[in-house]
Amino acid sequence: MTAKIIDGKQIAAQMRAELKQEAAKLKQKGITAGLGVILVGEDPASQSYVTAKERACEEIGIYSDDNRLAAETTQKDLIALIEKMNADSKINGILVQLPLPKHINESEILLAISPEKDVDGFHPVNIGKMVAGQKAFLPCTPHGIIQLLMRSGIAIEGAHVVIVGRSNIVGKPLANMLIQKAPTGNATVTVCHTRTKDLAKYTRQADIVIAAAGRPNTITADMVKDGVVVIDVGVNRVDDATKKRGYRLVGDVDFESVKAKASFITPVPGGVGPMTITMLLYNTIESAKKAIKL
Ligand code: NAP
Repeated sequence: MTAKIIDGKQIAAQMRAELKQEAAKLKQKGITAGLGVILVGEDPASQSYVTAKERACEEIGIYSDDNRLAAETTQKDLIALIEKMNADSKINGILVQLPLPKHINESEILLAISPEKDVDGFHPVNIGKMVAGQKAFLPCTPHGIIQLLMRSGIAIEGAHVVIVGRSNIVGKPLANMLIQKAPTGNATVTVCHTRTKDLAKYTRQADIVIAAAGRPNTITADMVKDGVVVIDVGVNRVDDATKKRGYRLVGDVDFESVKAKASFITPVPGGVGPMTITMLLYNTIESAKKAIKL
């Protein structure tokens, strides 16, 4: 068997076209959806993520309020800016790019964002609502993964999903979303991590493996069954002298060997990545619709 490649770029483009229409409908009602973007410091990876998010906003017609702050910005000044955005009716969503510099308390910053504008879905109020199965802003990467599965016609309901990784931004929320009593859930979920004894014992039983470990080759062909669906969340830099920049990006899955056994697989890049930004746009549009009670 050779796997069908799940084209994250194409699915993201389709969703962005839908969101562009939603943004245009809002404009007809006199509303331009707005995203407040805050980046503290000059980390090159964060700068490129923020630039990509702002470009995506522009592409679909969301106004973005760009705030690039010095690395020495104080916690107090950052909270003051968030509070200003909380009160600004032109801003429907607030994005604080993580990680923040070490002198800033990340949890306090995430708590300062109004849950009504928490389009990353990291505020405890939204996490609690999500766990309780209530309507909430869903965290973008797990939500994007569910969209990839649904839009590829892969049955989640009744599937045994094995997630490798238990971070607050991927593994934990994804596990919660997949066990919800809903068409996008109803899965049986196993969550693995570094203390899991015999990882392969679990991944071999999986109908769907979702790798979010942040380590190349965490999943190899001998660790999966024939016909498995594989979602590779990992983004890892490996040295590559043939590339101009000296490295290439790979996921957590040994793509070539696993592709030969799987029924579906996501590539890296071009799989989960494009969906993460798309779900941020989705949450921002949803927030704007809610603000005018559409
Ligand atoms: P993280 O916070 O470092 O968490 C990694 C998780 O994987 C931890 O729970 C860790 O277990 C587990 N783990 C690591 N090595 C393992 C192994 N060999 N066997 C079993 N479990 C293992 O990472 P993250 O923020 O969730 O991100 C994971 C990866 O996804 C990274 O490569 C990141 O760049 C990528 N990512 C991509 C997107 C996207 O949009 N494409 C979005 C978010 C993240 P412990 O808890 O026991 O340490």
